[in-house]
Amino acid sequence: MSDTLNAEFLEKLLEISRQMAETRVLEPLLKYAMQEALQLFQGEHGYLVLVKPDGTLDFRVKIDSHGNELNQPEAEISTTILYPVIRERKSRLIHDALKEPTLTNATSVFRLQVRSVMCTPLIVKDEVPGALYIENRSSSHIFLDNNLKTLEYFASQAAVAIQNAILNEELEARVAARTAELELALHQLEQSWMEAVEGNRVRTILLGNVAHDMRAPISMSISALTAINDGMYGELNDAQRRWIERTLQSLEHAFALTSDVFDLAKAEEKQLTLQRQTVELNSFLHDVYDTCEKLPRSQAVQFEMDVDMLLPELYIDPTRIKQVLLNLLTNAHKFTEKGTITLYARHLQDKNSVLIGVRDTGIGIPSDFMDKIFQRFQRGENTLNHAQRGTGLGLAISKELVEQHGGTIRFTSEEGKSSDFQVFLPVK
Ligand code: ADP
Repeated sequence: MSDTLNAEFLEKLLEISRQMAETRVLEPLLKYAMQEALQLFQGEHGYLVLVKPDGTLDFRVKIDSHGNELNQPEAEISTTILYPVIRERKSRLIHDALKEPTLTNATSVFRLQVRSVMCTPLIVKDEVPGALYIENRSSSHIFLDNNLKTLEYFASQAAVAIQNAILNEELEARVAARTAELELALHQLEQSWMEAVEGNRVRTILLGNVAHDMRAPISMSISALTAINDGMYGELNDAQRRWIERTLQSLEHAFALTSDVFDLAKAEEKQLTLQRQTVELNSFLHDVYDTCEKLPRSQAVQFEMDVDMLLPELYIDPTRIKQVLLNLLTNAHKFTEKGTITLYARHLQDKNSVLIGVRDTGIGIPSDFMDKIFQRFQRGENTLNHAQRGTGLGLAISKELVEQHGGTIRFTSEEGKSSDFQVFLPVK
């Protein structure tokens, strides 16, 4: 190679630098860099060495000028030359290693019959990720003094590209490991979700069956006790009547519970077929309001209705939606001692839906209970003394029923002040 850098050579060098910068995968980049270096400087053998994190050397590329992998004994190089280059970060050009006074004790040089050598460290900022080693064992004085500068320039470009590719590879390995971890976590999550869903389904079916089987005997007991209470089998004394009335109350509560469980089981299993029909909403809500007017409530509580004059028709199962609204209104009555309970409704034209809500000025819902409120058998600690304990199923059933209508149910509440339950139903 000529001693001076001609334009063609410089252009070639720039092209190689560009190619190296664009190659992001380490293995092909190392091979490419080594091959080009051999061609540029007419070396016979080329070695690209990387320094591993523990400081040992990794001979990543060992090739001849045709790009063929080198095998023993060509694959060996003189470490007497290589090590100081890396350690001292200083390139070295040897015209004839066999006659080089500083290498007279280097047995490897004689064993391998090394002649012309150029070796330069790969340096990026403060780090030395490796070194380039080019040699020619056939002839001495193959490399010219000026070649070393060019090789250093070449190595500086290669070093940056190699460092980038190493970082890229590390990053990809980390991303791959993280992705694998996430996939595993996702798989486990899916697994537990499926188990939970299945567990829930089995429990629901079981509960539904138990509830179903309990309804007949409870209902028979209620009828029998009602008949006794009504004096059908003779007069009762006060103590007997008191006992029977208390028992009847408990049985009625148990009967309500079985109805709720039964409904919920059917709703969750999607076995509850909705008897949909077109419903004129204003008169439907007035009917709900009238039913609720009769609910016992404290003197200090007003019951109001605030609905848009012109509400659209809905295509719903009126019995089921009435069940939902009565549940919300019963709750409002249970948990409000003074103020106002309002049944309200708005036509949300832009959303093509209707909002039916129940707002109260009652005791509100404790914030730590809010995310459990729609779960079954969940009852808050926020009871009023006189309020009857419910089953904790009303809202779970309401949610299922509203969702089966393609709607949603949500609430806002301020503890100690108010609650506002909102049902959104699509307009057909
Ligand atoms: P329950 O039959 O116990 O009323 P629900 O599912 O209808 O069951 O309600 C669950 C719990 O949510 C209630 O026990 C109560 O703690 C709380 N809750 C429901 N509605 C209201 C409300 N309007 N004001 C305050 N708390 C409420």
